[in-house]
Amino acid sequence: SPQPADTLAESLKRAFGFESFRPGQEAIVRDALAGRDLLAIMPTGGGKSLCFQLPAILKPGVTLVVSPLIALMQDQVRQLIDNGIAATFINSSLASGEAAARFAGLLRGDFKLLYLAPERLLQSEFLNVTLPRIAASPGISAIVIDEAHCVSEWGHDFRPEYRQLAQVRSRCPDTPWHAFTATATPRVREDILVQLALRKPATHLASFNRPNLQYAVREKQRHTYDELLALSRTSDAAGIVYCLSRKRVDELSAKLQEDGVRALPYHAGLEADERRRNQEAFIRDDAQVVVATIAFGMGINKPDVRWVVHYDLPRTLESYYQESGRAGRDGDPAQCILFFGAGDIRTAEFLIEQKIDPVSGEPLEAEQRIARHQLRQVLNYAESTECRRAIQLRYFGESFDPPCNACDNCLQPRELKDWTVPAQQYLSC
Ligand code: ADP
Ligand code: MG
Repeated sequence: SPQPADTLAESLKRAFGFESFRPGQEAIVRDALAGRDLLAIMPTGGGKSLCFQLPAILKPGVTLVVSPLIALMQDQVRQLIDNGIAATFINSSLASGEAAARFAGLLRGDFKLLYLAPERLLQSEFLNVTLPRIAASPGISAIVIDEAHCVSEWGHDFRPEYRQLAQVRSRCPDTPWHAFTATATPRVREDILVQLALRKPATHLASFNRPNLQYAVREKQRHTYDELLALSRTSDAAGIVYCLSRKRVDELSAKLQEDGVRALPYHAGLEADERRRNQEAFIRDDAQVVVATIAFGMGINKPDVRWVVHYDLPRTLESYYQESGRAGRDGDPAQCILFFGAGDIRTAEFLIEQKIDPVSGEPLEAEQRIARHQLRQVLNYAESTECRRAIQLRYFGESFDPPCNACDNCLQPRELKDWTVPAQQYLSC
């Protein structure tokens, strides 16, 4: 365990075996150790977990980590335990006896980190009885909100429970709060600060640029499938294909299989068992390609994905950044290709029109307005002749001087084409 005399670098090495901090990590860790509220925005794969895990180890008491997905919790806790760090999670996957045993361990001070879902933290029993007991002993060193963009309707993964987390504040008013996310447009950032009621937070904003990713947009047409097939066959490197519907996922993965590609489907309509098997097959390289809806992604940590294809239009530019960003986490070059056709606009608009109140049948106007605004941004991206990287980064409030020399528009400057007409009609309305 860490010694008081350790420098931060020594603690890092001792606890995680890493030689040095990644960019931005050390400053965040120092602010966390100083007990400040903080908001840290760092791209996926940048190493956010360590920024709260290391302070959790170094401070007395237990750090509570709110995380939106059971799979994410299990993953992180397993990695911590592998490093010999006392961590655990409490969620609905546990038998009640096991949950009780973990609570008892928690009160004895057996754990440095406890992962839990927002619903659990907000349960009245937890909020009113358990939390004050932990706060009294062993003490709560920090409350961490991971994937904090879930608090915002403007993010790509809104979770209403995240909105209520600020209630927890009154139960342990002196505990610092640390919010982490990979996705924050200026608007989402503001939402996080306000909804979580962060107090004079230190804000850390890392660059979103992923220099090893190459971006391209291609017109969707009859031989789009052949392009995908050719890409799959170029090498046996791992790739992800994102589609809008489960039906399309099933069809496309079946077609790729018929054509000899080791492809597997992934969507929320599959049995949990099959989903897990397919995901594991992909991670172990037993499958080369996973064809998926957006259900596939958060928490998937496969470093050597060499390409991500969007076979359909993503819903928001932010989700495009996240989904395409699953390529090339190892820092080696990777391709991100978006196929785009006029039909996608009709589909997207159709889906937006489906956003109606299930009780009254009235359109959910606010949601529809947000979705249309987001669709326009995606179309602007797809249609633009400007550097793709510059557009993406501007979306996150970051400026970038083109050319990036790694997107289609920088490498082959092009003229506006005919197929832009339907989008231009949409954009002008
Ligand atoms: P994020 O939450 O920002 O997406 P993670 O915290 O999951 O990223 O970290 C991504 C990967 O980087 C993990 O495998 C982690 O072990 C590794 N990592 C984090 N910090 C360092 C470091 N300082 N040195 C080497 N590897 C690191
Ligand atoms: Mg993370």
